[in-house]
Amino acid sequence: MSSIRVEIPANTLLFDEGDPPGSAFLIEEGQVEVAARNGSERIVICHLGPGDLLGEMAVIDDAPRTASARTVTVCRLTEIRRDQIRQRLGEADPVLAALIEGLLARYRSGLKAIRGAGKPNEPVLVQTAGPEPSAHFDKFRLESQLLSALENDKLQVLYQPLLDIPNGVIAGYEALTRWHHPERGPVSPAEFIALAEETSLIVPVGEYVLRQVCKTLVALKQRERLKTHFIAVNVSTRQLALGEFPDRLSEIVNEIGADPGQIKIEVTESMTLDFERVQRLLANLHACGFSVALDDFGTGYSSLARLHHLELDTIKLDQAFTRQMLEDERCMRIVEAIVQMAHGLGCDVVVEGIETQDQLDAVAAMGCRYGQGYLIGRPAAIP
Ligand code: C2E
Ligand code: CA
Ligand code: CA
Repeated sequence: MSSIRVEIPANTLLFDEGDPPGSAFLIEEGQVEVAARNGSERIVICHLGPGDLLGEMAVIDDAPRTASARTVTVCRLTEIRRDQIRQRLGEADPVLAALIEGLLARYRSGLKAIRGAGKPNEPVLVQTAGPEPSAHFDKFRLESQLLSALENDKLQVLYQPLLDIPNGVIAGYEALTRWHHPERGPVSPAEFIALAEETSLIVPVGEYVLRQVCKTLVALKQRERLKTHFIAVNVSTRQLALGEFPDRLSEIVNEIGADPGQIKIEVTESMTLDFERVQRLLANLHACGFSVALDDFGTGYSSLARLHHLELDTIKLDQAFTRQMLEDERCMRIVEAIVQMAHGLGCDVVVEGIETQDQLDAVAAMGCRYGQGYLIGRPAAIP
């Protein structure tokens, strides 16, 4: 079929069993009958009409046609080229693509077995993916294991101290989550938080972390009485996107009896994309008594033009700057400018990733209030 949208007379064979895949078609008008042969018998599989897609299966798995298609009435069809479908599949979630390919493979092998057996009531042996299943399904396994870890309290929350630089004391901590996987050992949050974010698992994971943090704050208060440490909690965009997020947070904090004034919610820069929503969210978090830090500042999407409209308490300068600033004069100037800018906006600054005394001295000389990094302390249980 050469043109994009064509009119086909009734009773025309569009493709036959065994034909090479070619294109798929979107039916605009008319009826098409899809049928398959079983020995001498001809079985009508379905009738397709306007809005239905026809002949896409062979295109997806690049296999010969396993059914024939014939127009019942005059039809108008739009051709969907093979590369259009292949491109969409290539861009799709790899797990979804693997699911579709798996389903098709099973359908084809089932069909082959039925035809080969020739005895409709005999059980059919369907060929499976074999001993090496798709690596994409590893994610399913990992997700199930993460869910079970969550249900069995196997996630651990560690606390990395933040130094109040001018006063030389620990001002608070950042909660960083660890997963001790039964076979793989410790799995980095960079991996499992990303996995949890792909599904709704991030919500129970986030709530679990917040509960642990609230319990830790209550225990700290009982032990240290006057000292008012804060704990910063990382919150992913997917959690924030839930409309009721600040209220849910408040519920948990009140239930455990922690003080929201001691909890700092860390959001990342990518949050500034949906700007009005973020503004409302920050206002709600403040109304509930939480403070808010903008994490990893300077790396992602830096919406400087809108930064002054955001109610932020803290800006956290990403460790990429800290790593380079002593070797690269221009990087140092950027760090100084960011610290000045943040102070000008009435925000505290936390410089992340401080690993050497020289880095800490440089940050102190800029008048920056807080520092965080391995020099000050690694993530650990609170002593
Ligand atoms: P982040 O929020 O930027 O956290 C800082 C990361 O830098 C932590 O890695 C920390 O261990 C590491 N780090 C701290 N000081 C230094 C240093 O001096 N040098 C170097 N090289 N690294 C340092 P971690 O714990 O692996 O966490 C990675 C990311 O995972 C975090 O980045 C955060 O975005 C995310 N994450 C961790 N816990 C949670 C959580 O409970 N919920 C959510 N949504 N995200 C989390
Ligand atoms: Ca953080
Ligand atoms: Ca960070």
